Amino acid sequence: MCPDGDADVFEQTHDHDDRCFPGPHSCPDPHGCTDPHGCTDPDRCTDPDSATHSDGRTGRRGVTFDAVIHLQECDTLVDQLRHRLEHLPGKAELAAAVAAEAAVVAELGPLSVERAAVAAEQRRLEHEVTTVEAKIEHVKDQLYGGAVVAPKELEALQHELGTLHDRQVAFEDDVLVQMEAAEPLDARIAALGEALEERRGEVSVAEAELEVAVTAATAMLSDATGDRELAAVNVPEELMAAYEGLRRRLGGVGAARLEGSRCLGCHLEIPAAELAAIRKAPPDELVLCPECGRILAR
Ligand SMILES: [Zn+2]
Repeated sequence: MCPDGDADVFEQTHDHDDRCFPGPHSCPDPHGCTDPHGCTDPDRCTDPDSATHSDGRTGRRGVTFDAVIHLQECDTLVDQLRHRLEHLPGKAELAAAVAAEAAVVAELGPLSVERAAVAAEQRRLEHEVTTVEAKIEHVKDQLYGGAVVAPKELEALQHELGTLHDRQVAFEDDVLVQMEAAEPLDARIAALGEALEERRGEVSVAEAELEVAVTAATAMLSDATGDRELAAVNVPEELMAAYEGLRRRLGGVGAARLEGSRCLGCHLEIPAAELAAIRKAPPDELVLCPECGRILAR
């Protein structure tokens, strides 16, 4: 009779010699069975690799604990790949390229405003020159047209003509000042324009490279997540709950191997008395590292 109390399952999965064979709930390879729904009677099963209780206890070779270690390896890989995806070097490179572009734009902005003000002032002064030139022509017409003959009036026109010439020269000088002010601004704006083109090119390259890296890292993460899901199937529910709780509390590592007297989770030596107790424990007993509390596979 099956000690698990499920005679049907026992009968379906064990022959008269108590050897495993594929029953309706068992794995396709009874000799390498790690399926918790496979062999339901590890104590009577003669295949040392096959037995796994549905409650998480394992058969003679600690298959379930191998499964949880494999799951841990998968989870660690998934964690690493997720971290890599979040911290791809290309993200920092793209951010640096965007910042460099923004710095050029930030410098270009006020310079363009300043250059526009210079251009506006130059246009205003050129307009003043044109106005003064028109007035000069008008005064010249009066002066030399013959309509004005009175000496005092002619003298007044001559004086006005002189004043207008002075104003014309002053406005033309001011136009030159504005043109001189524009020269270094134009040079700097042209240089920044070239720099902006280069920075924009660098941003495009960084974006394209990041996209390639994200695609590759996402594919690796997807593969690893798939492997993790397959590995999780082999870990019984109760053990999984314990493992997941430990993983959350202990920095992502919930299970570790015992190598010699050292826990590979915390890398501490387990004291002799506790180690002796661990060694004496049945292979299917859930044992936690006395130092770090992780599931110990031994
Ligand atoms: Zn430990």
